[in-house]
Amino acid sequence: MRKMAETVYVKELDLSSLGSLSKSYITIRHPRMKKVLRIQATICMAAREYLDSLGFIELLPPIIGPVTDPGIRGAKQVTFNFYGREYKVMSSAILYKQMAMASLGKIYFFSPNIRLEPLDSAKTGRHLVEFVQIDIEQAHASYFDAMEIAEGLLTYVVKKVLKEHEEDLKDLGRELKVPRRPFKKLTHKEAVDILRSHGIEASYEHEIPWEAEKELSYMFEDPFFIYDYPRGARGFYDREDPERPGILRDFDMLYPEGYGEAVSGAEREYKVEKVIERMRATGENPAKYGWYIEMLKYGIPPSAGFGIGVERLTRYICGLKAIWEARPYPKVAGIYSP
Ligand code: AMP
Ligand code: MG
Repeated sequence: MRKMAETVYVKELDLSSLGSLSKSYITIRHPRMKKVLRIQATICMAAREYLDSLGFIELLPPIIGPVTDPGIRGAKQVTFNFYGREYKVMSSAILYKQMAMASLGKIYFFSPNIRLEPLDSAKTGRHLVEFVQIDIEQAHASYFDAMEIAEGLLTYVVKKVLKEHEEDLKDLGRELKVPRRPFKKLTHKEAVDILRSHGIEASYEHEIPWEAEKELSYMFEDPFFIYDYPRGARGFYDREDPERPGILRDFDMLYPEGYGEAVSGAEREYKVEKVIERMRATGENPAKYGWYIEMLKYGIPPSAGFGIGVERLTRYICGLKAIWEARPYPKVAGIYSP
């Protein structure tokens, strides 16, 4: 582990580049952007190659539906009128992953998500309003199985990009290394202990704040996992450990070097009574989740899975300061752009 960042980050954000977002029809033609987009195409191809080789089936993702993921850390959902009934644009396809997994066992989507992130998310350099997750779910898997797949996926993609884009990476000024496996695993408690020992505020009961995540990420030279989040940190679908009440069988993967969160994943609650109890505890009204509750009553297998954001992955691989450099027509909170 390396020492905490002094006061200035190597990758300090240049917020003036936000101004170029309204002219994405010009930035998309920059030689640098073209390299990033070519690398992104390789990233997507390599991710599919890896998941297909493990027997996962790619399905077309849902874009709209009566309900979507409520566990989106302060972002707002987009709601619209669907022939007189309320519908949502997917903030994530989590509920549909369980539906599809119950049929095909091992599935993934390239899932477009919309989240109206808070205005100050524009300053993190890692939040878009429109982004794509590679979203994976496997029946009868544990959260350790899911971590193994996430680790294998990232390593495979990095190797592929290094092989096919050595020159492009050099031109972008990125020194990318193949991550060393196995990735380190810290419990949420251990992660909070490390942060506190550096004088950074973080709670044992909640999600780790963005800035603290970034500090922690800066202390590592390889990707790493944080697992066993407390119940208060996550949505109703992350499974509570039956032997350790209050602890969720879930995880995040963080990129090193200050890039922050890469992946969130978990085992899922799948028993209807438990899901309803967790919904109530997280302030969700089960009556709003009609089809989902009916599906759980019908019965689905236990499962685990995760989502990895394609733009954050591209940002990390290409060594970009801001996530809006990793998307052809980026939408950032509060900025009106094509
Ligand atoms: P979440 O379910 O919120 O943990 O999201 C899953 C993954 O999607 C995250 O680990 C990120 O890689 C990515 N992601 C989430 N929110 C955003 C965002 N606002 N902009 C870009 N990527 C995101
Ligand atoms: Mg997350």
